[in-house]
Amino acid sequence: MNTPEFRAPRGTFDLVPPRGEAMLAVRDALAAPLRTAGYGYVETPSFEETTLFARGVGESTDIVTKEMYSFTTRGGDDVTLRPEGTAPVLRAVLENGLHRGALPVKLWYSGSYYRYERPQKGRYRHFSQVGAEILGTEDPASDAELIVLAVDAYRALGLTGVRVLLNSLGSHESRPAYRAALQEFLRRLDLDDETARRVEINPLRVLDDKRPEIQKALTDAPVITDFLSPSDRAHHATVRSLLTAAGVAFEDDPRLVRGLDYYTRTLFEFVHDGLGSQSAVGGGGRYDGLSELLGGPALPGVGWALGADRTLLAMEAEGLPLPGATGVQVFAVPLGEEAAAWAFSLVTSLRREGVTADFATGGRGLKGAMKAADRSGAKYAVVVGERDLAEGVAQVKDLATGEQQAVSVNGLVTHLKRLV
Ligand code: AMP
Repeated sequence: MNTPEFRAPRGTFDLVPPRGEAMLAVRDALAAPLRTAGYGYVETPSFEETTLFARGVGESTDIVTKEMYSFTTRGGDDVTLRPEGTAPVLRAVLENGLHRGALPVKLWYSGSYYRYERPQKGRYRHFSQVGAEILGTEDPASDAELIVLAVDAYRALGLTGVRVLLNSLGSHESRPAYRAALQEFLRRLDLDDETARRVEINPLRVLDDKRPEIQKALTDAPVITDFLSPSDRAHHATVRSLLTAAGVAFEDDPRLVRGLDYYTRTLFEFVHDGLGSQSAVGGGGRYDGLSELLGGPALPGVGWALGADRTLLAMEAEGLPLPGATGVQVFAVPLGEEAAAWAFSLVTSLRREGVTADFATGGRGLKGAMKAADRSGAKYAVVVGERDLAEGVAQVKDLATGEQQAVSVNGLVTHLKRLV
């Protein structure tokens, strides 16, 4: 086989059928519960001013320090391909004044995101997320609602192995005391220079360090849940009881921090054990101070992003059939030129009537055309030759049983509509 001259860039891949359709179906399924719950759809540009992410995601995060696709445009603007969706959506809400209307604002979105990460299975430089945000309320019911909607989406796809990890990072009432206690603990450890620096800038991020020796050293680290203020504790308790009432099982994970700086109170991650090291299929949390960070008014919010690529990998890991594999219901096999023109108009009429249909092209002989019919996934082939046309009939063949029946061309569309 020839080696092609061009390949998809490192860390990216193409989606070709049938995985292409499967990805579309996964995105649709992840969004379906949101649409049922009345969320509005929002679309923002694929790139934004770099400072939006520097401020909105956090200067000390891996995303901002190492992973952004940033460049200066010909006009001298510094822009970045979006590494995540929340900061852009919040920017759009503030810019379009949605926060001045009825609150809360509930939004969903779907698209491509870009991070310059070290590629491996489940970790790509271009990936696909479906996201949701609720803005303008501190109600813990919103946190619980989002978690339930994500769990329902995974369930609808047939996934049984998704676990919900839950934590509270506390608000400004709880965090300073915890941060100080954690710092004090971490300063006593023997850490490399970079980690020691992180202890001073953003100690919570150290909890996210995946190295086994660090995780071991953290065994006795103080946990945030011991430092929650009464109102943060009450918020967390309500989220938990609403989840339980909704039949959603969750695991408390007091070490859960996640890689973005803006989270407050509720934090959660959806993980799947069939994925190896990149086990997070989705995650999110509350971000009550983010609007102010972006120059907006106080506008509490909570949201999540579900990774479509990893959701598809999780389905494959569970051996679920790929969703969305299409194919057509009817395949027309014309024999001869006159029949070809007739088949073309038959297929056009069928499609306009909502019957999925295709036809053999290029004047293929019966054998090749029937092979194409089998490959198309169709249940019925309509075989038509010049003699059939002269008699005003077409042969409708059931491709599963091989049974064939002559049907009058006049009633053919109606007949096929009834059959499929
Ligand atoms: P995050 O914004 O990092 O919480 O990402 C939310 C979800 O998007 C994760 O749980 C993953 O499923 C997915 N995701 C994040 N980064 C990547 C990546 N580099 N490649 C594939 N999926 C990703």
